[in-house]
Amino acid sequence: MGRTVELAAPVAPAPPSVRVLTKHGDTRLPPATMPDYDAACATYSWTDAMQGELDGLPNGSGLNMAYEAADRHAAGARAGHVALRCLRRDGTREDVTYAQLAARASRFANVLGELGVQRGDRVYALADRVPELYVAALGTLKFGAVFCPLFSAFGPDPIRARLDIGHGSVLVTTPALYRRKVAAMRDALPALRHVLLIAPAGAPDARIPNALNLSECLERAGDQFAIPPTDPEQPALLHFTSGTTGVPKGALHVHQAVIAHHMTGKLALDFHRDDVFWCTADPGWVTGTSYGIIAPLTNGITSVVDEGDFDPERWYQVLQNERVTVWYTAPTAIRMLMKAGAELAHRFDLSRLRFIASVGEPLNPEAVLWGVEAFGQPIHDNWWQTETGGIMIANFRSMDVRVGSMGRPLPGIEAAIVNHADIGVEVIDEPGVQGELALRPGWPSMFRDYVGAEARYRGCFVDGWYLTGDLARRDADGYYWFVGRSDDVIKSSGHLIGPFEVESALLEHPAVAEAAVIGKPDPVAGEIVKAFVALRDGHTATDDLRLDILGFARTRLGAAVAPKELAFLDELPRTRSGKLMRRLLRAREQGLPEGDLSTLEAGAR
Ligand code: AMP
Repeated sequence: MGRTVELAAPVAPAPPSVRVLTKHGDTRLPPATMPDYDAACATYSWTDAMQGELDGLPNGSGLNMAYEAADRHAAGARAGHVALRCLRRDGTREDVTYAQLAARASRFANVLGELGVQRGDRVYALADRVPELYVAALGTLKFGAVFCPLFSAFGPDPIRARLDIGHGSVLVTTPALYRRKVAAMRDALPALRHVLLIAPAGAPDARIPNALNLSECLERAGDQFAIPPTDPEQPALLHFTSGTTGVPKGALHVHQAVIAHHMTGKLALDFHRDDVFWCTADPGWVTGTSYGIIAPLTNGITSVVDEGDFDPERWYQVLQNERVTVWYTAPTAIRMLMKAGAELAHRFDLSRLRFIASVGEPLNPEAVLWGVEAFGQPIHDNWWQTETGGIMIANFRSMDVRVGSMGRPLPGIEAAIVNHADIGVEVIDEPGVQGELALRPGWPSMFRDYVGAEARYRGCFVDGWYLTGDLARRDADGYYWFVGRSDDVIKSSGHLIGPFEVESALLEHPAVAEAAVIGKPDPVAGEIVKAFVALRDGHTATDDLRLDILGFARTRLGAAVAPKELAFLDELPRTRSGKLMRRLLRAREQGLPEGDLSTLEAGAR
């Protein structure tokens, strides 16, 4: 990151002290997994958690995420328990037991072996939430390769950048996605040796040169696979995230992260053995992997995997029909449900639902309270990021929700508000003072590298702290309150978007001379991507051209990343040294004070 963060702001007004009683007093519910937060923090150790909760590979040969998630349950009393309840877009459903999941993942691992894939190679997935994606994830982890899921709504540019940076050697995708987004650039990806297509055996549309039908490969492969010794520090997962500048960052996580996945699922999401859990995130974003794949499985519970898109009525049907007990979703989704009205929620039998949590962007107080109106319980906000690999700060089941706050650090996590200036990091002890949120390194799911960008990785750690890039405050009771980002990244519908990646795509348009993008506040999505462009000579700013540039960006980047709005400017504001001043564009867009303009290039004022 290598950034300087503005000095801490003066003491902020006291945060609202509204508290909402959770259902922790309800004796019909199972007791909270962590009944006493302070006691849990006082005695917590990751080593004890590992020894008490996970098995480790047989014969002491290490720690493997897939073994903890599938094989150990498949070998015991949980073998016949439903691991994944997969809901297809066409309305059909498929239950996959732990025994079936372990066997299918073994087949996938054997396929990798037969293809000559090496341990440590990167296996990418570009697919909707279908069972094969989950089988590929666990099979890759068993094999000892690194799994990297990509969001299927990405356009060709983000896909190519991520395959390139991570040297992806295998891609698991569908025939349609392959044709639309990958085929044209295959020659430009020399590291990509194998493409495995998710399609029924014999499907004519999966007959594509240089690609294999995954079902046919799985059928031929054996369903037994001996997991090789796995060092807990061996790379396991690769997740891309964005910064203000430069290419996307590939955050690398190791097998040991499974301890954090497991424990945070248990403590922050209150997993109990009989739970039916639904994480609505796509595995292309870290939440959909840590909590959409690993954490529920290591805890041996049933996880709902929904292929379909957001639709309020259908979502309530899923909650009702699958008898979901614990639900993990995102603020944008909650705000969209709010728009549909609490009345709609009341039409469904959601009596099984006992715990709701949310992550990814600020959860506004109205949304927390709307949970009480719609579901008879508040929504528990929690905080983490791609780099942390798992939940770091949370409103827990055993505590009253402090509305508008992200909660308190997980046991085993040391958080602080710091002042990060050129001279180093200084911890701010005073409650209510704004600074950068920092974490003490050492938790198991901490990222171990940004692939191919070690200096960038090292720049995140200063004076024994990991600097998160978020600005926050802590109140006198130890609750953390999100303030904003210290950089220019955009959070739209929970997705972190790097301005540089979007600007680079805009600059490919023949009419665009300069481009800058910002996050524009939006009542539902949190922020939307807004672009500002200056045109090349000979082009005129017209509505048609605006739509053409927006359409161009959408084709290159995909709908989740592309700008939704675009404005023309004669010149973009830059510092004298040529750096884009997105901060100024943001301030102007919102009618806020423009701040210090002394470094602004004269012509752009
Ligand atoms: P990502 O790496 O894509 O998961 O994005 C992580 C970023 O999302 C964090 O650094 C925050 O800026 C934001 N974020 C995540 N959870 C929350 C939350 N509960 N409240 C506010 N912002 C959040």
